[in-house]
Amino acid sequence: MAETAADQLEAWLAHRLPAGWADAASSQDDERLDELQAEMDLDAFLDALGAAGWQTPMWDPEHGGLGLSPTEAREVEATMIRQQVPRGFDFVGRALVAACIKSFGSSEQLTMLDDIARSRVRWCQLFSEPGSGSDLAGLSTRAVKDGDVWVVNGQKVWSSWAQRSDWGILLARTDPDQAKHKGITCFLLDMTTPGIDVRPLRQMTGDDEFNEVFFNDVAIPDSMRLGPVDEGWMVSTTALMNERGSLSGRPKVGRGIVDQVIDEAKERGTWNDPVVRDRLMTLWCAERANQMTALRSAAGAQAGRPPGPEASTGKLAGSELNQRIAAARIDLMGPAATAYDEVPERPEPNGRGELTMANLDAQFLFLYSPASTILGGTSNIQRNIIGERVLGLPREPDTFKGAPWSEVPRN
Ligand SMILES: Cc1cc2nc3c(=O)[nH]c(=O)nc-3n(C[C@H](O)[C@H](O)[C@H](O)COP(=O)(O)OP(=O)(O)OC[C@H]3O[C@@H](n4cnc5c(N)ncnc54)[C@H](O)[C@@H]3O)c2cc1C
Repeated sequence: MAETAADQLEAWLAHRLPAGWADAASSQDDERLDELQAEMDLDAFLDALGAAGWQTPMWDPEHGGLGLSPTEAREVEATMIRQQVPRGFDFVGRALVAACIKSFGSSEQLTMLDDIARSRVRWCQLFSEPGSGSDLAGLSTRAVKDGDVWVVNGQKVWSSWAQRSDWGILLARTDPDQAKHKGITCFLLDMTTPGIDVRPLRQMTGDDEFNEVFFNDVAIPDSMRLGPVDEGWMVSTTALMNERGSLSGRPKVGRGIVDQVIDEAKERGTWNDPVVRDRLMTLWCAERANQMTALRSAAGAQAGRPPGPEASTGKLAGSELNQRIAAARIDLMGPAATAYDEVPERPEPNGRGELTMANLDAQFLFLYSPASTILGGTSNIQRNIIGERVLGLPREPDTFKGAPWSEVPRN
């Protein structure tokens, strides 16, 4: 039988990971894996992983990938998870920015993909503003051309991990006299540029994932403009489509977070309560239905079919289910759920440790769970999209449609 990409990855890892890693991973010996990872030269490993194409297996070989199909890439991903392979922490770079650079980047910008694949940089997304989240096209941050540079002034908010990022993908208004979706331009911004002030915001979890980012006469060379002037909306649409796609869940059918909550109920002795069983089995069925919908969506994409209704419902259903699961888990803990006084220690940004539903404590997840129905487009906005584009209902009225941005009222 021909060697699969996943077999090749297994062989590659056998030479690159420290002796004993595979055994520790298969017995889920986290302590031993932590010890082995501490002995590794993590940067060198991530560099080699990226150079070999394993961090970005679906990218074209010319951009540093392996050109694998979604099915092959899923098998590679399953191997990465099973072997608990250390990764670079850069969701924004790999999932969003890379897609935009591949579609719109100049030859100079295309060379930046290599650093993303090799985890040498981290990116943040500088889109949302205090007055423009759902209505992103209403954004006010201004970029004014001055010779070969663009001078940026304004403010972003909700910028995840901006305090740890080397680069940002920025949307700024370049022509206020065009309609709001026009007159926006996209830039690649070196976060060390003078005039950028990043201020972390503390959330109710106690963590400071988000930031406010202020721009005070920040100069961006024109060579770091991504796509045509005033066409940033088109560029950002590529980014947002990739964000929603990657948030709709990794397609697989099998043990999910509800199975873990059921195990916890069994340990606590509450599993025999018919009310608890009923609640958890309802969630279990919803989780399986979500998994199958994601699988159907992935199979359709692989067969070359345009995205169907299941692509739009995945984010809505998945994020609302997350909240119901987090709430059920807290209820099952009883008074113990109130014992939360510390943010769990975040793993090193690069490495094997990943913050997932399974390895975070129930209180953190419960406090964090409102985020999932907001990020990447709120549930209300998803419902608007389903109503208008899937069900064909009349569009939301827009009194200012086509009016210049400068004449549209803003909060
Ligand atoms: C965990 C997390 C990470 C994030 N990371 C980033 C990031 O890295 N970079 C970035 O740029 N942004 C990021 N965001 C911001 C996110 O994209 C916005 O929060 C989101 O788009 C909503 O915008 P808003 O917060 O301004 O709410 P608003 O748009 O002000 O919405 C407020 C409420 O009004 C409702 N609403 C608004 N418009 C309509 C409408 N037309 N019809 C019906 N209801 C409506 C909304 O559903 C919501 O309930 C992040 C958000 C979260 C929660």
